[in-house]
Amino acid sequence: MKLATIEKLCCPFDRSDLELTRITEDLAGKIEEGWLHCTQCKRMYPIVKGIPIMNPDEYREFSLEQPLLERWQKQLKGKQVKNFRILDKAQEEADTTDNSD
Ligand SMILES: [Zn+2]
Repeated sequence: MKLATIEKLCCPFDRSDLELTRITEDLAGKIEEGWLHCTQCKRMYPIVKGIPIMNPDEYREFSLEQPLLERWQKQLKGKQVKNFRILDKAQEEADTTDNSD
């Protein structure tokens, strides 16, 4: 999918802006693989073979997306994906902090 097309997309749930992470592109600069990330609800929409997967949660299958997430570990920078949402690492750590400082 062309970058200009992807930039016109918004989150289907809350119509917020989406942040694009590019992983691979073809020679023409079209996105082959990557993901879109909603700034509001934090949902992550994978882009596979140039097609963004923007189904409602109930039509998504985590087991199908898990191999992608494993492959994208480096780009996710240690962030966890739960319920199709990207959790900030800081949030995760805040949940488990034991106030030892
Ligand atoms: Zn959203």
